[in-house]
Amino acid sequence: MRHLAFALFCFFAVPAPAAAIDLAGDLVPGGMAVGWTEPDARVFLGDRPVMVGEDGVFVIGFGRDQGPSQQVTIIHADGRVEQQMLTVAHRAYETQRIDQLDQNMVTPDPETEARIAADQAAVRAARATPSERRDFLMRFIWPATGPISGVYGSQRILNGVPKAPHFGTDIAAPEGSPVVAPADGEVRLAEPGFYLTGGTIILDHGHGIYSSYLHLSALEVKSGQMVRQGQRIGAVGATGRATGAHLHWGLNWHETRLDPALLAPPMPAPVP
Ligand SMILES: [Zn+2]
Repeated sequence: MRHLAFALFCFFAVPAPAAAIDLAGDLVPGGMAVGWTEPDARVFLGDRPVMVGEDGVFVIGFGRDQGPSQQVTIIHADGRVEQQMLTVAHRAYETQRIDQLDQNMVTPDPETEARIAADQAAVRAARATPSERRDFLMRFIWPATGPISGVYGSQRILNGVPKAPHFGTDIAAPEGSPVVAPADGEVRLAEPGFYLTGGTIILDHGHGIYSSYLHLSALEVKSGQMVRQGQRIGAVGATGRATGAHLHWGLNWHETRLDPALLAPPMPAPVP
């Protein structure tokens, strides 16, 4: 009996070695992290199931206002459970005021509102079916080069009215400048004339990671087409709701908006 008590004491008092979950990436709001586990394991971020590749790779993303912690749970095929609380670092955002926009772009009439809703439904449909692609494992490059004129997460006040935060990175570049695929992917959407976003392309990089390119003046790819990193997909423009020629580059993990700038190296210096 004494022996049993001792054994039980040991069992509860000596914790199993903390099996840290194998994860690499940016544990910040807007960040993406890649992990590895056994292929037949089930992975959850909070209570949300996460896709696991045939070699056990998985990717998770953190929204703009996510934090200060997120729990990852891995349930192995033998029933063993691994759990880890991730600390998501605090991130501050700037406030950006844009005035003198056409009022119909800020407070649309019902007809325009219906058009915007249809555009948004097409965008949601383009991102609805995650693929097994694994292009998100590549080191991304900038899709366009130029001064960064808008950053992820900033709060926009349009004509004095607070709007949704800015979910992407704006790169100022002359109209017609090349836009290239920052990583391999498959074109999920290529639409020349959305109301707010103008010429719009969405690329699928696998496991719910999608990148988007807005306000394009020209589209050079079609939906369903495979693209390679560095391949030209379109041209910078000012179509849709844009105050000047720039590329809006967006990144999603499923419907969660991420910060694409976190994936890219430092912006190359301008060529004199
Ligand atoms: Zn933008």
